[in-house]
Amino acid sequence: MNEKKAIEEIKPCPFCGGEARFRVSENRSAHSGVGFTFFVECTKCGAKYPKRYECLFYMDGNGTINARTDERAQAIDDWNRRE
Ligand SMILES: [Zn+2]
Repeated sequence: MNEKKAIEEIKPCPFCGGEARFRVSENRSAHSGVGFTFFVECTKCGAKYPKRYECLFYMDGNGTINARTDERAQAIDDWNRRE
């Protein structure tokens, strides 16, 4: 099985050109799955996109890891469109 790239690349910070990364702010794990709340932040100047996003994954009976909620692409999209 090929692992496709799920998300497009995060563009550099629009303010300083620094590298932008995901930062997990909260663990949202429950019995049925593991989840994160996260945001995008510049590693150089600390600029953050104000919105919070979620990812939630669970394992099905075949052992496959599935995403129930995956807002990574949305987070990157918002960041990349930031002026
Ligand atoms: Zn920056």
